[in-house]
Amino acid sequence: MTKTYAVIGDPIDHSLSPALHNASFAFRGLDCIYIAYRIPKGELDDGIAALKKIGIAGFNVTIPHKVDMMRLLDEADQECKTVGATNTVVNIDGYLKGYNTDVEGFLDPIRKRKIDCTGADVLIVGAGGAARAIVAGFAKEKVHKITIANRTPQNAEHLASFAKQLGVDSDHVDIAKAGDTASRYKFIVNATSVGLKGIGLPISTKNITKDSIVYDIVYMPVDTPLILEAKEKNATIIYGWEMLIAQAMKSFEIWTGVQAPYEAMKLTLLGRF
Ligand code: NAP
Repeated sequence: MTKTYAVIGDPIDHSLSPALHNASFAFRGLDCIYIAYRIPKGELDDGIAALKKIGIAGFNVTIPHKVDMMRLLDEADQECKTVGATNTVVNIDGYLKGYNTDVEGFLDPIRKRKIDCTGADVLIVGAGGAARAIVAGFAKEKVHKITIANRTPQNAEHLASFAKQLGVDSDHVDIAKAGDTASRYKFIVNATSVGLKGIGLPISTKNITKDSIVYDIVYMPVDTPLILEAKEKNATIIYGWEMLIAQAMKSFEIWTGVQAPYEAMKLTLLGRF
């Protein structure tokens, strides 16, 4: 019988996940399909009941349900528990097990480049859901200190407390001034939505140097304004699409037990930009 998978969220029309997973199912010859299912905020319980009714095999969870979905799980893996959010769920006869592939998805491009995070000082710009998974990732990698810069300082403060709970020294700085001290950090990560559609810089780039590692998790366009300016400085670049593929590959492997086809995903994704 054909197995059905989904991504739930709102908005969901522009999600790249159906293209990514359907291409991978076809490439691996698996009898599976993947659909986008819009569930508005406040309607998660009904939405999940509907998915159970159709015997959904598994699903991804995106904005605004990643945190709320936790209470509907029967079981959660360690990464979910640490972050307090899930992005991947497996359904076994109505028993829902949650995973969080954002943490390892974020770390994967760093690992591929064999970059050592141990003892590093890190600047994360942004303090939303993705930034939380990134903090958990850097904590796993035993960085020295995480500095947060965010438009709303209270959210930065909150995320810095989370980093401390995970045993990493952390503080927060004014986002307007964060660029002034950019050369202090080994990693500069953009975890805001600034740069989407090629518009805007999250921080000033004047002090990014050739020794900086600039990781922009925004994946549309591939070359965000931050990445373009960091390239001018000869910084090491890590692209948002790399994280997108890595987290999708991990979801695919959790669901199917089959190795995800990297090249098929990459071609599907980059062909669509
Ligand atoms: P979120 O929870 O809504 O957080 C959004 C963050 O962006 C907050 O820190 C927010 O600051 C900040 N922000 C939004 N508009 C801003 C503006 N105009 N100026 C300055 N800061 C602004 O979203 P999220 O899930 O963390 O996702 C953040 C971005 O990462 C999105 O673009 C998403 O597509 C991308 N993402 C990529 C991947 C990947 O695999 N590559 C994975 C997850 C997310 P406030 O706290 O002040 O509101």
